[in-house]
Amino acid sequence: MAFSLFRKREDTVDYVIERTCKNCGQVFQGRFCNRCGEKVIDREDRSFSKLAESILNAFTFLEGKFWRSFKMMFASPGQLSANIRDGVQVPYMKLVGLFFVANFFYFLFPVFDTFNSSLYSQFYQQDHSHLVQSMVRDHLKSTGVDVKAFTDAYNAHTATISKLLVVVLVFIFSIPLSIVNFSKKNLYFDHLQFSFEFHAFQMLVSSVLLPSLLKWVIHFAQSWFQADWSVLLSDSFYSNLSLVIFGYFFMRAERTFYGHGWVVSLLKGVVLAYLVFFSWKVYRLVLFLATFWTM
Ligand SMILES: [Zn+2]
Repeated sequence: MAFSLFRKREDTVDYVIERTCKNCGQVFQGRFCNRCGEKVIDREDRSFSKLAESILNAFTFLEGKFWRSFKMMFASPGQLSANIRDGVQVPYMKLVGLFFVANFFYFLFPVFDTFNSSLYSQFYQQDHSHLVQSMVRDHLKSTGVDVKAFTDAYNAHTATISKLLVVVLVFIFSIPLSIVNFSKKNLYFDHLQFSFEFHAFQMLVSSVLLPSLLKWVIHFAQSWFQADWSVLLSDSFYSNLSLVIFGYFFMRAERTFYGHGWVVSLLKGVVLAYLVFFSWKVYRLVLFLATFWTM
């Protein structure tokens, strides 16, 4: 709900007279230009109380949209994307905006370095590690740079770059997503919106909510049963848990957004959850190349 400290004034706009838009020149009737959306400004719009009101509205309005979108993303995966496709956008935050809010949280609490990969990890733990090894060795040989100095510089640079590059992941994932769900009904834009919704969900879950919950469970087990449950935050357990959560999201969204029945949704949900891990692999290769070439 919009917050209003001030009593609602009577609407004094003349809806009949024709006006010329000061912004685009369109001739129209009413309070807003029907071509560019510019608002007709009267003396009251420039009063101090109006300014104070709009500052308050800016906060509460954003908050209202954020929470409404956030809750919907969990209660009904795929519904936000479906709303955009079907033309109901005003009550919700734009998915790109939601993604960047999630992104902000991720970089505030980086529990796992999923989207930021050290030189060690690139050099030894990836499918493309042989490529990394030969490129780095050639580089060190030709420039004579010391290994330790290169590693430090690389790690610092890749941490910075990954903050800008993580949005690339949304585009990488949108490709297998639009192949798995190919139909004439949906445009590439729709799949891309859905990819933004999933990545907003995924970042909030895997960077904020799930690690906090697991830390709390580990702490609880430690203090009540003297049990060591730190395995819950190990890479392998966490990956499997993420797979289940992503599978759940996709299964629901396949029904809501793509309109499939339960059986098809179940199958596609499993496939998409695995494709998330595949898109991370591609992303890490892109991250390596982007870091290496811009150092
Ligand atoms: Zn206009």
